[in-house]
Amino acid sequence: MKTIRDLDINNKKVIIRCDFNVPMKEGKITDDTRIVAALETINYCLEKNAKVILLSHLGRVKEEADLAKNDLAPVADRLSQLLKKDVLFSEKTRGPELEATIDSMQGGDVLLVQNTRYEDLDGKKESSNDEELGSYWASLGEVFINDAFGTIHRAHASNCGIAAHLPSAPGFLIERELKALSELDNPEHPFVVILGGAKVADKIGVIENLVKKADKILIGGGMAFTFLKAQGKEIGKSLLDEENIDFCKKVLSEHPDKIILPIDVAITNEYTNDEEYRVKNIDEITSNEMGLDIGNKTLELFENALSTAKIVVWNGPLGVYEFTKYKKNTDELLKYIVDNNIKTILGGGDIVAAATAAGYKEKVYHASTGGGATLEYLEGKTLPGIESLK
Ligand code: AMP
Repeated sequence: MKTIRDLDINNKKVIIRCDFNVPMKEGKITDDTRIVAALETINYCLEKNAKVILLSHLGRVKEEADLAKNDLAPVADRLSQLLKKDVLFSEKTRGPELEATIDSMQGGDVLLVQNTRYEDLDGKKESSNDEELGSYWASLGEVFINDAFGTIHRAHASNCGIAAHLPSAPGFLIERELKALSELDNPEHPFVVILGGAKVADKIGVIENLVKKADKILIGGGMAFTFLKAQGKEIGKSLLDEENIDFCKKVLSEHPDKIILPIDVAITNEYTNDEEYRVKNIDEITSNEMGLDIGNKTLELFENALSTAKIVVWNGPLGVYEFTKYKKNTDELLKYIVDNNIKTILGGGDIVAAATAAGYKEKVYHASTGGGATLEYLEGKTLPGIESLK
């Protein structure tokens, strides 16, 4: 696969697929992290005097009413402030006006095109990778750079569709993601996996793929209780993924030495932050109690397993981290990893949100930006957005 440095960008019309799917409230951007993250690739192209054409999706567009909610115009304004230059904005995703704007662009100009998913109103053209749409967008430029890691697991017109027609490469963001994640392909050992979060169902593919390579898999969060149930333990009202008890039994019997489960938990009677909790050994849970965080003995057990690790990947919080009472040991384990400089990749989604809130995101080896994309990578699946760049 080519890198952005291999492409001839000088003075060219360069289409960059960004991930500007930013959170918005009443038309205002509430977090511009994703826009900031795109600047490196955009600035690189501007230094080469390219005419930069930016595409991105924002939210989902299923009906007319979704259009106004998912208008990308505020992103153009924010981008203009960050780049300290004018950013042109095309209200349309195709047509003579858009083409005329592109024809009038000079080297060093930047244009943001309206939300690619506006095309979904017309038979889901963007999301179904409509051939005509991909080739039309490709016709607007000369080179294509994909820097939207969050949609790399999807075959859409604005990534795979365009890449099929132009010299293409990943941008710096995707390059960094792949460099870090590919260290898990043939990992150094000991390789330790930490899994938490709600449901076993969401992590089956990850477990099946990583159990072959990992030396240890530490399981916390809600999903630990289905494993504990599979061992015949009383889990009270704790989260249970009934349909996957047999899957857990199978994993436990095939890899008895690899799977490490909680030995104590923070217990309460109601799913709330308001009640006092107590910490109990795993064999002491009663029928009307539920576990919402791992206990301190489990924390120590996990720390021991991590102490010699050469590389670690972590997906999913170890407790209900949204409640101040039950984020404690997710935070403590993050702290342990940071303090001991353990090479750790946070696998997107909630664990990155937890690390950001606790101030550890910038201190870990790599915090992946993709939720679904990272999970599919960890499942060992081929990612269409990457394949299309090869
Ligand atoms: P996931 O998206 O699968 O990583 O799951 C993240 C969610 O798991 C968060 O919303 C947590 O609140 C939830 N979670 C973590 N631990 C528990 C637990 N012990 N009981 C219920 N939910 C949990």
